[in-house]
Amino acid sequence: MRYSQILEKVQDDLDQHKAVSDAVSKLSQYFYDETNSANDYGMKWADVNFGDPETNGTYFILPAKQAGLTEFPDLMFLFGKAKIRHTTGMNARSTKPILGHTKLILIWCARTDADPNTMLAQIKAKVVGNFETHHVLKHELTHYLDFQRRAVANKEDTFAKGYEHYYNNPSEYNAYFTNLADHLMGMINGMRREPDHAQTYADLYDYDPDFMTMLKDIMTASAFEGLRGFLKYMNTKTRQKTLKRLYALHQYAGELLAKAH
Ligand SMILES: [Zn+2]
Repeated sequence: MRYSQILEKVQDDLDQHKAVSDAVSKLSQYFYDETNSANDYGMKWADVNFGDPETNGTYFILPAKQAGLTEFPDLMFLFGKAKIRHTTGMNARSTKPILGHTKLILIWCARTDADPNTMLAQIKAKVVGNFETHHVLKHELTHYLDFQRRAVANKEDTFAKGYEHYYNNPSEYNAYFTNLADHLMGMINGMRREPDHAQTYADLYDYDPDFMTMLKDIMTASAFEGLRGFLKYMNTKTRQKTLKRLYALHQYAGELLAKAH
């Protein structure tokens, strides 16, 4: 691959990361806002039947546009009761529109679905302040952009064929890469936005000019359940692809720093 192509790919990665990070910030701010909270966020609930007992249930529904996510105009969030202790998520397409939306992101994060007020308070707490929920949101939003931009399979893979198959599936790759390189891309996007403060970002994000040192930090990240699985089950091909992509990002960070001095 020519350097100009690599650079183009790096910019793509960074633009996508910016889009999903901004969306999660806006969503978090939307739930944090006292006026929205006092109005119960428009309080829209739905009993949704996906024809699948695993996903059927009561959901709090929020059009992405309502939370100011202008880059996701046709998307609808559905927040439901967690299936396991962790927050999980899924992209879905509904044949029957829900409040006019067919493109859905399901986030299972509440502890209860018995009492709407308690459930809403739990959803708010998770969206505003829970690191894992932020990761799941970024993961699902990346899938959404993949489906939009590259029209890759519009259904997420499952564990049905085993963990190794799931974590090495090309349709999952980009979404997990977003999670894996979240810290690194967050730093570089800060540098891009404020080139004069590139060194500040490098210091605050513990940037290391040695790629191997930085790689060790990244590959031992364990803050997010799904990411632990991705790192555990990735095969050689996925690992090599991942290293190349991280290396290109790390190089680019070095260039931005050099320019700033
Ligand atoms: Zn996924």
